[in-house]
Amino acid sequence: MAIPPVLSDPRFSDLPARLQSVHARMDEACALYGRPAGTVQLLCVSKTQPAAAIRAAHALGERHFGENYVQEALDKMTELADLQPPPIWHLIGPLQANKTRVVAEAFDWVHSVDRLRIAERLSNQRPAERAPLQVCLQVNISGEDSKHGVSPQDCLDLANSVAALPRLRLRGLMAIPAPAEGFEAQRQAHRQLAALMHALNTQGLQLDTLSMGMSADLEAAVAEGAHWVRIGTALFGARPG
Ligand SMILES: *Cc1c(COP(=O)(O)O)cnc(C)c1O
Repeated sequence: MAIPPVLSDPRFSDLPARLQSVHARMDEACALYGRPAGTVQLLCVSKTQPAAAIRAAHALGERHFGENYVQEALDKMTELADLQPPPIWHLIGPLQANKTRVVAEAFDWVHSVDRLRIAERLSNQRPAERAPLQVCLQVNISGEDSKHGVSPQDCLDLANSVAALPRLRLRGLMAIPAPAEGFEAQRQAHRQLAALMHALNTQGLQLDTLSMGMSADLEAAVAEGAHWVRIGTALFGARPG
């Protein structure tokens, strides 16, 4: 098979090794913590990286890409419209009400829903011909003032409301814990998110997805049950700008 030209671009010469190393970290953590193979998926976080970086990761077999900024993501989608199979697009950044329509039209997943008004708009605006939008609720698991996310206390009410929206499929919870020193400290926030999802499920919800773990705490997240790890720096290197 011909090597796609983007893989001879010197900007991405490290990508094959970095990708292999991230998959090895995931596989080793799964083996160590008793997670069946294939239960953790890689979301390649491509924010601020050029569209060509996504093209390169796609050529190496990756399909799921996470973006934080709506307009930047839409520009990349246009530039990458020729990719087959098409990339699966995940919004992982904060979402303003005035951007919900384009997000409902263009994305497959939104991990960062943290209030009902946004969820209602996404449901109303999801095109009829597309599958329901997959969503996670972003939880402010570390209780930081500055962070987006619903509080753990308010999560059940929000989850019940979002689960009832016809054009969304509520899949689970997402968190960006405060940075923590050391493996045990990292595990704690992830364990809290997993416990919260379990608690919601005992209240009648049917959630199956924990979106947690980034470059620095992937193993701790896998140990506590992550289904998506969202990896940027470890794949693409330091972000430009
Ligand atoms: C940037 C970002 C990531 C990736 O972080 P890295 O440390 O570069 O792996 C994951 N999740 C969210 C929500 C982000 O904004």
